[in-house]
Amino acid sequence: MSTINCPVCEKNLPDPLPSFCEQCAWEVLLFLEEIPGDIEKEYHQRLERAKRNWQELLRLKELEKKLAATQTPPPKPQEIRPNQKRRRQNRP
Ligand SMILES: [Zn+2]
Repeated sequence: MSTINCPVCEKNLPDPLPSFCEQCAWEVLLFLEEIPGDIEKEYHQRLERAKRNWQELLRLKELEKKLAATQTPPPKPQEIRPNQKRRRQNRP
């Protein structure tokens, strides 16, 4: 393991560094290279957006876990037999 964490998801990155974070797919090498001044602002905007997306994803995963813990698993979808054609709805 390296001493570098992903700027988006804060996962500790392996050594040698991968091009992309294996957890959130952020471009790790871009982060480590010197960013030219003219794209630095854009880069930081992208980074902030990626962080927000990542936090949102984590929140959703937590929510899913909570839901899975409180709910019984959904029933299996009914099998549709090939000879049972669905009737088309009458459209106006
Ligand atoms: Zn990451």
